[in-house]
Amino acid sequence: MSIQVAVNGYGTIGKRVADAVVLQPDMELIGVGKTRPNHEAELAIENGYPLYAAIEDRIEQFDDAGLELAGTVDEMVGAADIVVDACPSGIGAQNKALYAEHNTPALYQGGEDADLVDVSFNARGNFEDATGADHVRVVSCNTTGLSRLLAPLQSEYGVEKARVTLVRRGGDPAQTDRGPINDILPNPVSLPSHHGPDVNTIFPELSIDTLGLKVPATLMHTHSVNVTLESTPDAAAVAELLDEQDRLFLIEESFDIDGAGALKEFAMDRNRPRGDIWENCIWRESISMEGSDLYLFQAIHQESDVVPENIDAIRAVLGAADATESIERTNETMGVGF
Ligand code: NAD
Repeated sequence: MSIQVAVNGYGTIGKRVADAVVLQPDMELIGVGKTRPNHEAELAIENGYPLYAAIEDRIEQFDDAGLELAGTVDEMVGAADIVVDACPSGIGAQNKALYAEHNTPALYQGGEDADLVDVSFNARGNFEDATGADHVRVVSCNTTGLSRLLAPLQSEYGVEKARVTLVRRGGDPAQTDRGPINDILPNPVSLPSHHGPDVNTIFPELSIDTLGLKVPATLMHTHSVNVTLESTPDAAAVAELLDEQDRLFLIEESFDIDGAGALKEFAMDRNRPRGDIWENCIWRESISMEGSDLYLFQAIHQESDVVPENIDAIRAVLGAADATESIERTNETMGVGF
């Protein structure tokens, strides 16, 4: 019997996770939760995804829009083996009681506080820690990108100290209320940004300092990375190690990709759904060693890198596969890896 998955919150992350669930041979999407009828609710119906109302008072609005509901989110959660909460930051915390009431294990997203859950999750970092947990948080896009990069460096060379400057997109393409429009903001101004402590929810012992900025861009985040290693491999060896990892994509010099715009074009040319890039994108030429200090640049597609991680977290929580099996299955079904 396949795993019955519900997705509550069908926005940027939720619609991508729902599409990825449908591709899994061991999972069935039983429905998606929406607060109101909009183009995304229409899309769910077009895709044949049963639509459940998150707010009972608004059921009439769906009727008025001609969108057929399968029931309420309460009913959907009751019927699910697991629910993926992809609601806006803070709403996941409000939904926790509902999931607990039904005894349905829940995955939350990176906008929720780490102390909401039993375990924070990254497939490469700590897959097994989530097994049997009731409330699990798939860490944010940036923390996912950092965890994937730091895990192999830590196990192969040891990490003495990581220092990362995160140049963050101001908002997603559809977030017209976000900014800055014409500025460059140290954000937060005080150190550290929350990303370093968030990486420590996956690797508690790792020494890491992070600084954040926000810029007028919507396409991707860019990380300027410096990691002091406990040994002194040459740059070619580090590049080879990173190249061997799942979900790390090394951009070749010959590709002539100079930034996020070209990366998105690259993904769209390869028929990625929504132009998504599930992998960390590391410029091979940027991988440099100065003594034991590693330097590199990587770009992170904020709207999609957490999607395969959500799929793996479902299997991790339910003990349905081990890390290697799950990551392989997710990558193969979604087409992760260029
Ligand atoms: P979003 O606003 O695009 O989507 C959220 C959806 O949930 C919307 O469709 C909204 O209508 C719906 N919703 C609101 N309240 C609800 C409720 N009570 N019940 C059911 N649905 C409800 O947000 P998003 O960007 O997908 O972010 C979701 C979570 O993922 C947040 O925790 C965020 O921090 C995290 N995240 C976002 C990104 C990103 O770049 N967008 C990346 C990684 C993680």
